[in-house]
Amino acid sequence: MDYFPVFLKVKGRPCLVVGGGKVAARKVLSLLRAGGQVAVVAPQVCDELQAQAGSDAVTLVGREFSAADIEGKVLAIAATDDAAVNRSVYELASRQGIPVNVVDNPELCSFIVPSIVDRSPVQVAVSTGGASPVLARLLRARLESFIPAAYGRLAQLVDDYRQNVKQHFSDVDQRRYFWESILQGRVAELLFAGQEELARNALQEAIDDAGENYETSGEVYLVGAGPGDPDLITFRALRLMQQADVVVYDRLVSQPILDMVRRDADMIYAGKARDKHTLSQESINQLLVRLAKEGRRVLRLKGGDPFIFGRGGEEIETLAQEGIPFQVVPGITAASGCASYAGIPLTHRDYAQSCTFVTGHLKDGSVDLDWGKLAKPAQTIVFYMGMHSIPVISKQLIAHGLSADTPVALVQQGTTPNQRVYIETLDSLPTLGDRHAVKPPTIIIVGEVVSLHSKLSWFGLPAAGK
Ligand code: SAH
Repeated sequence: MDYFPVFLKVKGRPCLVVGGGKVAARKVLSLLRAGGQVAVVAPQVCDELQAQAGSDAVTLVGREFSAADIEGKVLAIAATDDAAVNRSVYELASRQGIPVNVVDNPELCSFIVPSIVDRSPVQVAVSTGGASPVLARLLRARLESFIPAAYGRLAQLVDDYRQNVKQHFSDVDQRRYFWESILQGRVAELLFAGQEELARNALQEAIDDAGENYETSGEVYLVGAGPGDPDLITFRALRLMQQADVVVYDRLVSQPILDMVRRDADMIYAGKARDKHTLSQESINQLLVRLAKEGRRVLRLKGGDPFIFGRGGEEIETLAQEGIPFQVVPGITAASGCASYAGIPLTHRDYAQSCTFVTGHLKDGSVDLDWGKLAKPAQTIVFYMGMHSIPVISKQLIAHGLSADTPVALVQQGTTPNQRVYIETLDSLPTLGDRHAVKPPTIIIVGEVVSLHSKLSWFGLPAAGK
């Protein structure tokens, strides 16, 4: 982060705009919207500025810029096409510690101006750190389209009742829970539907009914975070990530996804690297119970889908026994995420009529699978946690009748920028390790569908391997 985001108060305060063209006029308009008192210094001004000068908040100073113009200003913007004037505004302001912006010249800016979605008092500011104002504007346009216009009124309503609610609930967390239930419930819906009066009544009722101790019962959200690409999480997952008080996450959850969790949520790492479980499964189960019993909203965040080789079932069984409310949010499982991003359809009318997900996890050194059933033509097998069982997988599938040249794909860190696809055959598979340093997590896909990769690959680097 190269810039520290702030919202500057200019209401009733003196601001300086140097320049008389259209760009200057736009800046003056923004400052006026925020209540600034604007002095515009320019020998000539365009029609827009002339019109703005009708406002009490604008003073036109019809001459060249001089050092004294800067005195006492809380902010200065230079928008002239004279580089020397712009520089001198920058230097004078900088010397006096006055925030200064020379339009379209990041070198001569102590602050930059974001693109704004204005739902006053709600404002969403978008910045690309000066890298691309066009990108910022495109993003802004997207935000415009999904932030309802009534958000401004909603914020106003909250503001009107803030003190009242503060007096009612002394506890900060209780206050937050209360507001979250209001902002996602009937009061907000009424307001969005244009029923402001009813919304106010409903809010007052909610405050009166809440009593001194607003009951917050803890709950657990068991959420699948998908295979890595943050774009692949569900809307529901995102919503719960934003409202959790505490997050218990696995090693498989990627950093970009963790970055989307509510900033002040407590983060607890539950580990789960092979053979070095940071917390035992039993202690994770108990931890979830304990946190929920403290009245907290617990996000149990797992890689992929929580119900596919994720022990999600065991975790919520304990919750169910303890009578703790929970919900389960599916995620895109590694098999489907990795297959899609590797251009390998898991089923295909010409190659595979079924697909089986199995774990290649070794139990006492052997893989306990029904090899006879797996080694059948016209089906795809996806091995999770299979890297340490490669020799066994290769040997058993061939021994049970699959051709030694059946294609196999290994997808390393699928759906992430580090995705790597290795194409092998069943008999070349065991020697793969000698040729490539394959990193976890990796999934193994066996079957004729793998041959489609060469045609359908679309994401990341081309495959390595045989
Ligand atoms: N619940 C998870 C699976 C957990 S088991 C899911 O539904 O995806 C862990 C195994 O998943 C790893 O050993 C690896 O085989 C596979 N895996 C998970 N994420 C992966 C990724 N991004 N790329 C490749 N394999 C992945």
